[in-house]
Amino acid sequence: MFNALVVEKDEESGKTSASVQQIGEDRLPEGEVTVAVEYSTVNYKDGLCIGPGGGLVRKYPHVPGIDFAGTVEASDDDRYKPGDKVVLTGWRVGEAHWGGYAQKARVKADWLVPLPDGLDTRQAMAVGTAGFTAMLAVMALEDHGLKSGPVLVTGAAGGVGSVATAILAGLGHEVAAVTGRPEQENYLRGLGASEIVAREELTEVTRKPLESERWGGCVDAVAGAMLGRVLKQMEYGASVAAIGLAGGPAIEGALITPFILRGVNLLGIDSVMQPYDSRVRAWGRIAEDLPMEKLETMVQPATLSDLPQLGADILKGRVKGRVVVDVN
Ligand code: NDP
Repeated sequence: MFNALVVEKDEESGKTSASVQQIGEDRLPEGEVTVAVEYSTVNYKDGLCIGPGGGLVRKYPHVPGIDFAGTVEASDDDRYKPGDKVVLTGWRVGEAHWGGYAQKARVKADWLVPLPDGLDTRQAMAVGTAGFTAMLAVMALEDHGLKSGPVLVTGAAGGVGSVATAILAGLGHEVAAVTGRPEQENYLRGLGASEIVAREELTEVTRKPLESERWGGCVDAVAGAMLGRVLKQMEYGASVAAIGLAGGPAIEGALITPFILRGVNLLGIDSVMQPYDSRVRAWGRIAEDLPMEKLETMVQPATLSDLPQLGADILKGRVKGRVVVDVN
C-alpha cells in the first residue's frame, strides 16, 4: 500500500473531490518502469487536475501530478535499473495518465529522463515543468540570437518566470521582470532582475503599429494584452519565446507590423511532447546554468495533504515561485 492524492468524481453532480488515500500497487497503471516518487510540484495544469479537471482528465478516480522525480524501483526496460534517479515532465502524465502525487508511479520508459549529475530529486522538482520549460525558452532565444537590450520576463513572480529570471541573470543577461505583485520586488531582484516593470504598464491594448524598441528578448508566460504590447516593443530581429497563457489565450491587439517591419520572431515553446534529446540537453543546462542558491529562494515546501488548497491557489495566481511536494 502507498499514499496518493486521489481525485474522485460524483457522477450525479459532476463535482470532483481530492483526498489522500492508501492504495494498492495492483491499481497502478501499465508501464515498463515503477518509480518510488520522492518529490512532485504544483503547476497551473495541476490546479485544474486537482480541481474540476479542465477537460484534461480522462478517467476517475485519478491521481494528478504532471511531474515527479524519484528512484527507479523496478524496470522491464534496459535503459533503467533499480536505484537510477529519474525525472519526468509532460507526456500528459497527471492528466490522461496517473501522475506524481503518490509515493509510487508506473510509466513508460520513453517518458523518463535520467537525472543529470549535480541535481538531486528535490532540486529537480524545485525546477519542475515550469523551470524545465523556462530553460527550453532560454535555449530557443539563444538559438535565435539575443539582442543587446534587456530580456523581458512576464509573469515573473510565477514558476516559469522565477526560473527564467534566475537562469537569464545567471548567464549574465540584464533582466526586466514584469509583475502584478509589487510586493515581490525584493524577491525578483534577489533572483537577478535589474528592472521591475509594473503589469499595468503593459496591459492596455493600443492600436499603435509599433512602440519604441526596448527588449532584446522575452520569455512570455502571460500572452493576452501583454504579449500584444511586448511584440511592438521588441528590438529589430529580436525574439519572444511564448510559453503560457496566464493572462488569456488570445494575443490581444497584436498587429503584423512587428513581424514585417522589425523582423521580430514569435517562438512557440511546448514542454509536453518535447523530444528526448532536447529534454536531456535542457536538464543538463539546468544543472549547469541555474544558480542553485537562487532556486532555493523560490521554494515553498508542501505535502500531499496541502495539495487541494495549493491547486486552488495556483489557479488564482496566488502561488509565488515553486512549490516542492514531499510525497513521503
Ligand atoms: P504561475 O501561476 O506560477 O505563474 C503565472 C504568473 O503570471 C503569475 O504568477 C503572475 O505573475 C502572472 N499572471 C497571472 N495572471 C495574470 C494576468 N491575468 N495578467 C498578467 N499576468 C498574470 O504559473 P507557471 O509559471 O507555472 O505557468 C505560467 C504559464 O505557462 C501558464 O499559463 C501555464 O499553463 C504555462 N505553461 C506552459 C508550458 C508549456 O509547455 N508551454 C509548461 C508550463 C507552464 P506576477 O504575479 O509576477 O504578475
